[in-house]
Amino acid sequence: MYRKNDTITIEIEDISHEGLGIGKKEGFPFFIKDALVGDIIEAKIVKLKKNYGFARVEKIVRESNFRVKARCPIAKPCGGCQLQELSYEKQLEFKKNLIINNLKRIGGMKEVPFEEMIGMENPYRYRNKAQFPIGKNREGKIIAGFYAGRTHSIIENEDCYLGVKQNKEILKVLIGHMEKFKIPPYDEKTGMGLVRHVLIRYGFMSGQIMVCIVINGNKLAKEELLVEDLRKISGMTSISLNRNQENTNVILGKELRLLWGKAYIEDYLGEIAFEISPLSFYQVNPVQTKILYEKALEYADLTGKERVWDLYCGIGTISLFLSKKAKEVYGVEIIPQAIEDARNNARKNGIKNVEFFVGKAEDVVAEQYEKKSAYADVIVVDPPRKGCDEKLLTTMFEMAPEKIVYVSCDSATLARDIKILQAGGYEVKRVCGVDQFCHTVHVESVVLLSRTD
Ligand code: SAH
Repeated sequence: MYRKNDTITIEIEDISHEGLGIGKKEGFPFFIKDALVGDIIEAKIVKLKKNYGFARVEKIVRESNFRVKARCPIAKPCGGCQLQELSYEKQLEFKKNLIINNLKRIGGMKEVPFEEMIGMENPYRYRNKAQFPIGKNREGKIIAGFYAGRTHSIIENEDCYLGVKQNKEILKVLIGHMEKFKIPPYDEKTGMGLVRHVLIRYGFMSGQIMVCIVINGNKLAKEELLVEDLRKISGMTSISLNRNQENTNVILGKELRLLWGKAYIEDYLGEIAFEISPLSFYQVNPVQTKILYEKALEYADLTGKERVWDLYCGIGTISLFLSKKAKEVYGVEIIPQAIEDARNNARKNGIKNVEFFVGKAEDVVAEQYEKKSAYADVIVVDPPRKGCDEKLLTTMFEMAPEKIVYVSCDSATLARDIKILQAGGYEVKRVCGVDQFCHTVHVESVVLLSRTD
């Protein structure tokens, strides 16, 4: 029997959904961070549970053929990327297996009609959004960076390889301003200090930049000087302050104050122009998002006669994408600001056959259905990680659309919902994966379900 602090030599055979290496000793599994499939390592046991344990890499005895050198110097401690040392090809295989295994294990599917896993040609600098926490290092210097895995201690990094190059310039200006005017960063432990986070968005097609500084208060010293410096950065379009005085992990507060420029930036997905404001959800990888939406459109297979519901619609991206091929599209989203953006986006693009509703998808659809005004040929859902509410799935059965297209950013909750949908008379016809989050363990999937009767 093993004990804590014992050293073991172990071969890594699998990857957990969190990106930990898994190896077995006489059938007993160990989870090991930074260990890759194919590695043989010497590891120290750090924790033992009844049926599994955790160990820490001490030495790599034999390197896996899939091991590559991480491009980022802080790939290991940073909580952002879990797979940077795994070759990209192997990352895609891992994600494909993750989707298939979840659909089998949780979704109860025997065969999964998986079509393809779509990766990126260049899987770096793909993110259009970054949220840097601002804090102090041990020497008291103001830093921006990312949280170390599972903690809230900040690891300094102003140039993440997943983000755009402009982030660094913006952080330099902000930190310089804070130093010059002695503006303290926020301290989560004491609740004191001012600057919590900076949210940066970059429109890949438009070149427009948004900076939104989240503060524990109303005002920054010498705002006008900060604006003057930020404006010098090419593409700067929107500078705002967001007030968040709650003791919370949620990054953005509700209140926004525009310091300069427009309240939003614009970007294009295919031919459609979008206005994106700081509080709205917008997919972070524009290259892969276009591919994802095209897949959703392909799976919906519209002829122009259909009435389509797009649930969890955000700023109406999928709705507007589908609108050109459908008779009518109805979008539902919980965040009022996002729906305001969605309506503007429809107007901006001269699209008249879409209607948007604010509220919880599960409530709005049920209400509309009771009023007999919710007919659907196709329902598209794109929920957050927690998946669909069961009440919504029940209403969907009553509406009985011919097709359901499920876009998901968490294949475990997808699989849970698929199980319910299958029991309610739907069959999974097509599945694919789109890698929107290269080097992390996250993956986006699209599933087509058809009514069986
Ligand atoms: N389809 C959009 C957004 C997907 S993200 C896109 O591709 O851009 C999921 C969205 O669901 C977010 O905008 C979130 O605000 C919204 N949301 C979360 N819970 C919801 C609920 N119960 N009802 C409706 N929308 C919800």
